[in-house]
Amino acid sequence: MKLICIGRNYAAHIEELQNERPKEPVVFIKPDSAILPKEQDFYIPEFSNNVHYEVEVLVKIKKVGKHIAKQFAHTYYDEIGLGIDFTARDLQADLKAKGLPWEKAKGFDGAAVIGKWMPKNMYENVDRMGFSLLRNGENVQKSNTSLMLWKIDELIAYVSTYFMLKKGDILFTGTPAGVGKVSPNDYLSGILEGETMFEINVR
Ligand code: ZN
Repeated sequence: MKLICIGRNYAAHIEELQNERPKEPVVFIKPDSAILPKEQDFYIPEFSNNVHYEVEVLVKIKKVGKHIAKQFAHTYYDEIGLGIDFTARDLQADLKAKGLPWEKAKGFDGAAVIGKWMPKNMYENVDRMGFSLLRNGENVQKSNTSLMLWKIDELIAYVSTYFMLKKGDILFTGTPAGVGKVSPNDYLSGILEGETMFEINVR
């Protein structure tokens, strides 16, 4: 399985990183080895001094599809989650400046936190879900999927024109503003529509 990730999908986050607003979604892949095993602490890798949390809404793909039309995209998922796209921001900045791929900064071991899954039909509208990230109890990221530049179904249609989606693939839908550095002994928790979806200790 693969993790298909979207960058720059919330206007306020594009501004905080002083990135250009894209004309199309920014897409990258994390390998399945990036998934942080359940109940395991996140260890800051030795090659970075600036690992950032990025809380993101997740979508689990339930069947094979390619060139999926937007109006059928909703039939490709039944489960919604919340996770973190950990990013070695210093390494990413260095790679970006050189025009090189970001994989090392985004796809390292443990860089993908995947919380629990909830049935999609728990939510009235997946395009209007509130979510947030707490760092040591303080709300550091707070947003709503209504603020996505490209909504979930548009993202599925878009990425499936390049990558065949397979059962079990996970879509990371991009992070809102408020990203920041993690430090050893931080405690991160992610909330989706009032429900705690994951809790992570940083080492
Ligand atoms: Zn991200």
